[in-house]
Amino acid sequence: MVIQERKIKGHSDCYEESYPVVLAKKLYASGHMMPVDGTLVTGEVAAHINHGRWMVECPYAPCPSKQIVNLDVLVFYCGHCANWSNGGDFYAVALPDDREAIEAALLQRPIPEVMNWGPTETAASLLAENVVHGVG
Ligand SMILES: [Zn+2]
Repeated sequence: MVIQERKIKGHSDCYEESYPVVLAKKLYASGHMMPVDGTLVTGEVAAHINHGRWMVECPYAPCPSKQIVNLDVLVFYCGHCANWSNGGDFYAVALPDDREAIEAALLQRPIPEVMNWGPTETAASLLAENVVHGVG
């Protein structure tokens, strides 16, 4: 029996294949190429937590793409639009400075579906929500 480690998950916790392989398949399916060596990292997208996973949304408004963050290399490349709004460059992924406190507050909750966080929330506000709901 495999006991899953309780943690806020990133790409490698959710996929057997590496981030570049999953990205290449998504890009191929949407008619785009993988970014080439030397592709720049410009701009930044803020991560959030949804159902116990670090996520980013493509900042190009018409693009519906969301992606589980590759916590090993904090860059975002959209598998749907190939970072159209960023001239094809990678975006840096911004995690909060108090990431550990945020994750610790969410991990007090019983199931991933209620482990959610957005940049307007603080670890303190998450802990206060935990108290209201009788966890922690
Ligand atoms: Zn996109």
